[in-house]
Amino acid sequence: MPDRRPYNFSAGPATMPEEVLRQAAEEMLDWHGSGMSVMEMSHRGESFGRILHDAEHDLRELLGVPQDYAVLFMQGGALAQNALVPLNLSRGTRADYVVTGSWSSKSEREAHKYCDVQVAAKPEGGFLDIPDPAGWRVRDDAAYLHYCGNETIDGVEFHFVPTGFAPPLVADMSSSVLSRPLDVAAHGCIYAGAQKNIGPAGLTLVIVRRDLLGRALAACPSAFDYALLAANSSMFNTPPTYAIYMAGLVLQWIRRQREGELQGVQAMAERNRRKAAMLYECIDSSSLYGNRVARTARSRMNVPFQLRDPALDAAFLAGARSHGLLQLKGHKSVGGMRASLYNAMPEAGVRALVDYMREFERTH
Ligand SMILES: *Cc1c(COP(=O)(O)O)cnc(C)c1O
Repeated sequence: MPDRRPYNFSAGPATMPEEVLRQAAEEMLDWHGSGMSVMEMSHRGESFGRILHDAEHDLRELLGVPQDYAVLFMQGGALAQNALVPLNLSRGTRADYVVTGSWSSKSEREAHKYCDVQVAAKPEGGFLDIPDPAGWRVRDDAAYLHYCGNETIDGVEFHFVPTGFAPPLVADMSSSVLSRPLDVAAHGCIYAGAQKNIGPAGLTLVIVRRDLLGRALAACPSAFDYALLAANSSMFNTPPTYAIYMAGLVLQWIRRQREGELQGVQAMAERNRRKAAMLYECIDSSSLYGNRVARTARSRMNVPFQLRDPALDAAFLAGARSHGLLQLKGHKSVGGMRASLYNAMPEAGVRALVDYMREFERTH
């Protein structure tokens, strides 16, 4: 192992900014002179109140969340939202889903329990591109139109917001939120599990336009009713306090990032663009590695790639580990490799990966 913390390319739970981990370690036993760890505090106390307030404030600043949107800190992961979105927003009527990969496919399947679902678009022959919105079948009277901003497993990303449809947009942004500027106002609802780009698992972020609140089906559990959570500042019951604290530290870290004139999410976007370009360039210029996703739909966050001969996979992964490059094995449904390049992955990590890939190619 090299003489540094290894670079962790996991798709999630994923690498965290080292600075944040060090700060959390320093504050572990005594948060700001309170005599308590954050995980020991009452969620109703003044200290945690500040942590929650600051996290919401920083998130609103970073994404430019308009005032007519509620920010909810929930539990259950993005997968729970596959049920909670129709429970809260469908009114039991109609909802349309764009299916561009494994995660939106799961969202679509779960929604059938709660409403009349139509697939607005789904590419034929595998998840390798975003179908042209001009050809989507969207019902004007659908309660919402759901899509997944970045397909974490398939490596397919929307590089545009699919506006121009009558129903409000609902987006699963689990693996791309905060990686680039996001037009919140173009959406009715955005949700994201935290463990990719925000913080530890256990926290789920929901941003929802307030005029969509108060439509929950009678069967919706109270603890997951968006309107009740909004009315109680995410404290209808005990929220995932420590995960919210960690997310707050990550949000502060993003606010400190600079790239020339750029700050915050814009700085992240510029850095993420360079990181992804470096890795795709390595893949495209090689005869050993390949990525089949259409260039206009390639993900900047999750880069799946295959070795020409899968018999080399084990040697590639073992060599990677010995170079301090962890968790590069691809999702079992896709095979091959996958490098996740979330905000917390430094450029030096991607450079180390590319150097290793070139060396492996020379020797195999
Ligand atoms: C990881 C992920 C999920 C599932 O998240 P859980 O927190 O495990 O429920 C859903 N959608 C996307 C896009 C993801 O990346």
